[in-house]
Amino acid sequence: SATPATLAAISSAAKKGILFKGGIAIENFSSLSCIAFDKTGTLTNGKPIVTDSYISPEQNERDILGIVYALEYGSTHPIAIALVNFLKERNYSDISLTNQKDLTGLGLSGEYQGDEWRIGKMDFTRKHSKQTNIFSKQTQKLSQEGKTVVSLSKNGEMVAYFALLDIAKTGAKETISFLQKNDIHTLMITGDNHETAKAIADELGIDEYRANCLPEQKTGILKDLQKEYDFVGMVGDGINDAPALANADIGVAMGQGTDIAMQTADVVLIQNDLETLEYSYHLSKKLKKITV
Ligand code: ADP
Ligand code: MG
Repeated sequence: SATPATLAAISSAAKKGILFKGGIAIENFSSLSCIAFDKTGTLTNGKPIVTDSYISPEQNERDILGIVYALEYGSTHPIAIALVNFLKERNYSDISLTNQKDLTGLGLSGEYQGDEWRIGKMDFTRKHSKQTNIFSKQTQKLSQEGKTVVSLSKNGEMVAYFALLDIAKTGAKETISFLQKNDIHTLMITGDNHETAKAIADELGIDEYRANCLPEQKTGILKDLQKEYDFVGMVGDGINDAPALANADIGVAMGQGTDIAMQTADVVLIQNDLETLEYSYHLSKKLKKITV
């Protein structure tokens, strides 16, 4: 059971909006040698805004926007919320899809009048690589600006794309730099593509990033890190992150994240505030001095 000093530290942390579920996590926090972060909603605000859009001139704009609305409406993914908000201010056709699917980490699909429509990652939406070239030239520049580009395809043929910008959280850069100063290796794991991941990683000065990760791969990366580092932490917010949070030596969930992430984690940052990691580190360090 926890010592009075540990209980006092848990209570101090709670006052700052850091919920440690037990003594072990706070006692060991300053022993972390590596921390892996999810990108969307963890290092970034998780509230992207549509900044650019392109619809192939051969297509009917109202119908295309209607398809996007029908695909994204009802999804709780931050990308879906951003696209629905973008469409609310535009003129779109009322379209009902059948056979709708949500492929976690890839995108969404549905059928309309015998055609299959897909929205999401380029690798998921495209069928003809020839056509990708024209699209990828335009979308590469947007990705290099740190934007997430989602494409829309009709039977595997690209017909539109949308670029979304999700800015880094205030204090994220400072938190990364604090951890690095204390010899903690930092890493970002994301389902987003390389270019977008690199732009965000460069902006934050994070040591390493892994892009194009499917949800189930996050746990594998974490287990590999555990072979290389003694004590590995994971910070995340999504359903996708829950297995990795459970596997980490210390799992940290964002307070505005999904319930499953918060249930699985050892620590919850109620205010969604990354700077509290620095406070947690100091508390843990102090606690160690008392205990040893
Ligand atoms: P992250 O790890 O950054 O939180 P996800 O694993 O949730 O990202 O998603 C990875 C990628 O899958 C997104 O960058 C996007 O390209 C695509 N995607 C996921 N959900 C949707 C959606 N609702 N609409 C369009 N694209 C999506
Ligand atoms: Mg996330």
